[in-house]
Amino acid sequence: MTRTGIGYDSHRLAEGRRLILGGVHIPSERGLAGHSDADVLTHAVIDALLGAAGLDDIGHHFPDTDERWKDADSIALLGAVMSMVGRARLRLVNVDCTLLIEQPKVAPHRAKIRASLAGALGVQPEYVNVKATTGEGIGFVGRGEGVAALAIATLELVV
Ligand code: MG
Repeated sequence: MTRTGIGYDSHRLAEGRRLILGGVHIPSERGLAGHSDADVLTHAVIDALLGAAGLDDIGHHFPDTDERWKDADSIALLGAVMSMVGRARLRLVNVDCTLLIEQPKVAPHRAKIRASLAGALGVQPEYVNVKATTGEGIGFVGRGEGVAALAIATLELVV
């Protein structure tokens, strides 16, 4: 039996912040604002996994009102979520995700992002696909006000 979940997240771009996507630092004049490291891609993947496992959402497990998660490394949170998935006797089939980002270009960093996410998920990079698209100059993504991410995860019951 397989189970599928979706994830979505968005964060505002701000001066004086590092841009972290899928656990990889991407050189950029601005980064994403948030309580944690604001890794929008990893947050979307976490919610896709929690959705597939029927385990609520990221805000339930790691509330942004909790000082423990201030500046949290989202890749470490993803590792914790994979432990929850394993305890639910589920294992990952694959993850696919799309970044909505005007700039910088993600393509030069894609392989590193896939490897980073795959490492936290405990699978080979071929099971973690990362796509990126721009906002074509429209909406909050196109105006460079923020970055969004979509993810879908499929899990299967361990028999
Ligand atoms: Mg988030």
